[in-house]
Amino acid sequence: MSEKLSRLGIDLPLLPLTTVGSFPKPSYLLAARRKYKKESQLLKNAETNATRYWISAQERLDFDVLVHGEMERGDMVAYFGEELEGFMPGGKEDLVRSYGNRFWIPPHIVSPVRWKEPLTLGAWEFAQSLTKKPVKGMLTGPATIHDWSLDRFYGNRHTTVLAIAQALRYEIDVLIQNGVKIIQIDEPSLAQTEFFFDTILEAFHIMIDGLSEKAYFIMHTCYGEDIFESLYPRMLELPVDNLDIETANSGMKFLHTIERFPVVKDLSLGFVDVHTRDLERVDTVRDWMRLALTIIPKEKLWLGPDCGLKTRTVGDAELKLVVLSAARDMIRACV
Ligand SMILES: [Zn+2]
Repeated sequence: MSEKLSRLGIDLPLLPLTTVGSFPKPSYLLAARRKYKKESQLLKNAETNATRYWISAQERLDFDVLVHGEMERGDMVAYFGEELEGFMPGGKEDLVRSYGNRFWIPPHIVSPVRWKEPLTLGAWEFAQSLTKKPVKGMLTGPATIHDWSLDRFYGNRHTTVLAIAQALRYEIDVLIQNGVKIIQIDEPSLAQTEFFFDTILEAFHIMIDGLSEKAYFIMHTCYGEDIFESLYPRMLELPVDNLDIETANSGMKFLHTIERFPVVKDLSLGFVDVHTRDLERVDTVRDWMRLALTIIPKEKLWLGPDCGLKTRTVGDAELKLVVLSAARDMIRACV
């Protein structure tokens, strides 16, 4: 797929290093989010400063494909719920526990879901203006937006997911028209979609058909445990160029599944676990990368963490990036 990126004007080194998307918000931004309304210029200034910080951190560590860090997003679904037509914010009575001591309030779908204006373009444009390296356009996928919301309108998962996909298609069109070359669609809820995969596949076709020569598409998913073993051959049917899958958390066990099928897409694997603050050793990560290269051709492997790093502290997240970068330097010197 590197030929496709070259055609799009992006030349990446072997074993491109990237991250999944979100970074932790610094304390001044968390304070600003508590204190100011969404429209406040003071809050926007805090988001801008935090974005600058994370872009410079990625540049300093020589990441190849950058992310803007999602400083403007409360969580990956509520943000889209705030910005798309058809959603209403949930109330405290809807509080859901996700994992550990983290809670979120799912938005409600109350009328037809429609795209009304760009949701993610401004944040991407700002981040891309800070660097010459490519910055990914970042979207939460339609199944995840559905599954982490409360549907009070459609009453049918298939219909709702496709309606959300149609709305996201407008966003993808706008991103591409404005120069985004790499677009990542996050579908952590794929782990719960074993029996709905045909819906997901149809949704991805709605989002991507006709655009596959205009951008390079990545689908990220994570924490599917054993379900991914059976789902992986179906993931290979998705009309994307790159599958980005958590692997470090399960001790690289997923490589056994990858090994059983031809490598027909680029694969981005996770080499540091984002669910623990324990820091991986650089030589362990290097060895995992080496192991992955015994199964995946070097032209098709991308390197990164398991998932977004936003649940860690700023310092811990940055240390994970340091480990990834150092292990990448070691492995790149040997290939
Ligand atoms: Zn994830």
